[in-house]
Amino acid sequence: MHKYVFVFGGVISGVGKGVVTASIAAMLQKRGLKVTVVKIDPYINIDAGTMRPTEHGEVWVTEDGGEIDQDFGHYERFLNINLPKANNITTGQVYKKIIEDERAGKYLGKTVQFIPHVLDQIIERIEKSAKGFDVCLVESGGVVGDYENIPFMFAFRRLALKKPEDSCSVLVVYLPTPNHLGEMKTKPAQHAIKSVRELGINPDFIICRSEQAVDELRKQKIADYSNILPENIISSPNVKNIYSIPLLFEKQDLGKKVTEKLGLKTCEPDWSDWQALLNKKLSKKLVISLVSKYYKTGDFELPDSYVSIIQALKHSANHLGVNLELTWISGEKIEENPKKLKELDEADGVVVLPGFGGKGVEGKIKAIQWLRENNKPFLGICYGMQLAVVEFARNVCGLSGAHSTELSPGTKNPVINTLPEQGEILKKCAYGATMRLGSHPARLDKNSLIYSFYGSETVWERHRHRYEVNPEYVEKLEGKGLWFSGKSPDGKFVEFMELRNHPCFVGTQAHPEYKSRFTQPSPFYTGFLKKCLEMKD
Ligand code: GLN
Repeated sequence: MHKYVFVFGGVISGVGKGVVTASIAAMLQKRGLKVTVVKIDPYINIDAGTMRPTEHGEVWVTEDGGEIDQDFGHYERFLNINLPKANNITTGQVYKKIIEDERAGKYLGKTVQFIPHVLDQIIERIEKSAKGFDVCLVESGGVVGDYENIPFMFAFRRLALKKPEDSCSVLVVYLPTPNHLGEMKTKPAQHAIKSVRELGINPDFIICRSEQAVDELRKQKIADYSNILPENIISSPNVKNIYSIPLLFEKQDLGKKVTEKLGLKTCEPDWSDWQALLNKKLSKKLVISLVSKYYKTGDFELPDSYVSIIQALKHSANHLGVNLELTWISGEKIEENPKKLKELDEADGVVVLPGFGGKGVEGKIKAIQWLRENNKPFLGICYGMQLAVVEFARNVCGLSGAHSTELSPGTKNPVINTLPEQGEILKKCAYGATMRLGSHPARLDKNSLIYSFYGSETVWERHRHRYEVNPEYVEKLEGKGLWFSGKSPDGKFVEFMELRNHPCFVGTQAHPEYKSRFTQPSPFYTGFLKKCLEMKD
C-alpha cells in the first residue's frame, strides 16, 4: 500500500517547490522508504520539449528520453535515482488520452466530462506511477488559484478522500519582505491558504519560503489564520547550498512529522554522508566562465536555463574541495565587441553551453578559437562541442564557410549535419519528442583525456540534439589533430571530442550534467575541473 504527499504552491511560482519536494522525498528516503515523485505540469503542451528555456527554465531529460520541467532534475539530484518520463503528467497528455479513448469508443456511449473522466484519468496516471513504492510525492506546478491547476487539485482531493490516513498535503508559500517596509508580510500566504481551502483541501504543513527565517510571531499568525498548529508551519529561508535544506527541515522535525501523519514506522535517518559533503572545506578556488546565448525575459535574465550544468559544476567543485565562482559571458556581447574575449583570460576554465538557433553563435565560435589558440581549458556541451568542430574546420582545416546545417542549410562544408533519420523527421515538421533523446552508450579510446576522466571504456550519458558530427568529415578533421575519442559502439555517432595538442580541450555531444548528483558528481565535469586546477597550479 502506498502513501501520498501532495505538494502545491501559493503566492508566486518559482518559489522553490521543486527543491522542497525533493527535500521531503530525501527525508523519507533516508528513513528507508522506497520513494518516487510525480510532477504535474498544468500546461497543454504534451511535454516541455518544444518550449524555450526562458518559459520554465531548462528542459530536463530522463534516462528513457522524456523532456520534462527542470524540477525533475532536483528530484533525481537529491534522491540519486532515475525517474521515468511517465512520472510527468501534463494537461495535454490527459486530454489527448481521453480524446483518443473517446474516438475508440471506450466510453461506451457516455458523455465524456470534466468530472469524473478528467479526474479519473489523472488519478489513474498517479496511481500507476505510485505502484511498488512506499511513498509517492506529487508536486503540482504553478500556483493554487491558477485556473489550469483546478483539475489536479480536485484529483488530489479525491485521491486523499479514498484513504485520508494515507496522504498528507504540503502548501509552499512565499513571505515577502518589501524593501520599503523591512518587515516580513504574511498576507499573501493567508490568501494562498484561503485559495486552497476554497478547493476543499486543508494543508497539513505549510512551508514558508522567505529571505530570512520566519519568526515565532509570524508562525503563530499563519497558524491562527490557517488552523494549523504552529509546529507544522516550517521555516525555509534562502540558503547558500540547497542541499542543506533537508537538514534544515530535519531540525524542525518535518521528516518525523510527515511519517507520523502517514502512519509510517521508520528507522532513524543517517545524514552523515550529506553532512560530510556539506562540511567539506573549500580551500581551493576556481573561476569558471560560462559562454551562453543572452537569456532574457523582458528586462530580466534567467540563469535557470542552465540549472543542471550549474548544479553539476557545483557538485564536482564541492567534491574536489573547490570554492567555485561562475562568471557569464554572452556570445552576442563577444560579437558586438571582440575585446570582450579578454574576460575569458580571467577564468580558470570555460564552458561553452548547449543551445539551439543562431543567436550569439559567431561570438561563441570566437571564444572557442581564443581558448584553443591560448591553451586555456575548454569544455563544450552538445552545441558547444558542435561549434568547436565548426571552428576547427574553418580555422585549422581551412574548410571555408564550414557550419552546422541547423544554421546554414546550404553550406558547402556541412561538418555538423543531421543523419538521414533526423532529416526525414524534419521534412515532416515533426518536432515534438523526435530528437536523439535519453541515455546512449559511448565507447572511449583508452589513452584519451576523456577516458582518464571516466576511468572506464563504456559510458552512458543522456542526449538531446538533432544534429551530429558529419561522418564524411571525421577523417579530414582527425588528420589535423582533432580526436573523436568517444563514439557510439556501432561507430555511427561521434559522442566525445578532444584536441591532441592542447592540455584540455574537450567536448561531448551528450549532456553529462543530467546524471550528476549531489552525492555522486559527474566524472566528466569532475575531470574537467581537476584539469583546470592542475593547469592553474
Ligand atoms: N542545436 C543542436 C542540435 O540540435 C544542439 C542541441 C543542444 O545543445 N542540446 O543538435
